[in-house]
Amino acid sequence: MTDLFSKFDPLIQQREALLATGVKDPFSLVMEEVKSPTVAICNGRETILLGTYNYMGMTFDDDVIAAGKKALEEFGSGTTGSRVLNGTYQGHRDVEQALKDFYAMDHAMVFSTGYQANLGIISTIAGKGDYIILDIDSHASIYDGCKMGDAEIVAFRHNDIEALEKRLKRLPPEAGKLVVLEGVYSMLGDVAPLKEMIRVSKEAGAMILVDEAHSMGFIGPNGRGVAEDQGVLDQVDFVIGTFSKSVGTVGGFCVSNHPKFEILRLVCRPYVFTASLPPSVVATAATSIRKLMHGSNKRAHLWENSRKLHGGLKALGFTLGTDEPQSAIIAVIMPDLERGAAMWEALLAEGLYVNLARPPATPANMTLLRCSLCAEHSSEQVDQILGMFAAAGRKVGIIG
Ligand code: PMP
Repeated sequence: MTDLFSKFDPLIQQREALLATGVKDPFSLVMEEVKSPTVAICNGRETILLGTYNYMGMTFDDDVIAAGKKALEEFGSGTTGSRVLNGTYQGHRDVEQALKDFYAMDHAMVFSTGYQANLGIISTIAGKGDYIILDIDSHASIYDGCKMGDAEIVAFRHNDIEALEKRLKRLPPEAGKLVVLEGVYSMLGDVAPLKEMIRVSKEAGAMILVDEAHSMGFIGPNGRGVAEDQGVLDQVDFVIGTFSKSVGTVGGFCVSNHPKFEILRLVCRPYVFTASLPPSVVATAATSIRKLMHGSNKRAHLWENSRKLHGGLKALGFTLGTDEPQSAIIAVIMPDLERGAAMWEALLAEGLYVNLARPPATPANMTLLRCSLCAEHSSEQVDQILGMFAAAGRKVGIIG
């Protein structure tokens, strides 16, 4: 018998070697208690959270929690079925209406996760003979959506407008084309030049899908994302998003003005062949989305936090993923996995949780400490965070 697990041996060895250095496993942290969007108890110790996607801090919003409790009591704990059979409750309609209002778009379709939204939309709309042109640093769910469908895949260099244009020009003019972009790329926290990319894509007759998972709720005057911020939302054919980040719950969605959009409810397999979200989840999502429409003050504070943390880390001598703060994600580049893990652990010992990210999730084989800020982080917490980075960075020898 060939052990089907032998393919995992290199990863098992790498992991064992890392743990043999005495470092805690950075990929199995338990939050024993969650006190607020920014504080949890980890290993029995109060810890500042700087590694969640709770950008707008909605997880503990009183109205959001009340809506979830009410739906749980009135509609029960789950739907037990697919949206197209027995899984569409009033709450699913309400959250889709909230999304249409949030984006001022004609159609909204809710999936059980953002991962499934990408899987479903990409694999369904780009078929045999069509082309998907995507940024090489695209999220796994975008790649998996491509893999699941029958279209030809063409990748271009990250955020490179010329490379995108060149690839597009090589494709048959009459072929169907879908250009897939992200607003914010989650590893380095950098923003896409959507305006120029959309221009060259439209010139080549392509349709555009933008995943705004990390920008929805925060970036843009109304929190609609990077496309709104760059004034090109009306040229985007499909916006993909998630409820697991700024919205503060779980779920995924696609919004669009395409006149034939509703047919997707019958042909999109990751929508049809899975159970719909529980009533409590769609109720929390709808309430959160409606509140995010009036979140300008929170957005402004989150920008302040982002600028303060970015500037502070730079001044301490850390190497960052972007020259300027571009989003709520600030990536601190580590020299290697061993020192990255040591720094991660030193920060945890200081009482700070960040994300350790490493290949293959990261671009260019980088090991990163990813910091993601929340609108609920106070200015004092950001000062504390900088103090923790200074202490841990000196201890591990990352900074002088
Ligand atoms: N797209 C991007 C760009 C993401 O970063 C993520 C999650 N990290 C997803 C989609 C998937 O979202 P979800 O967690 O809702 O499955």
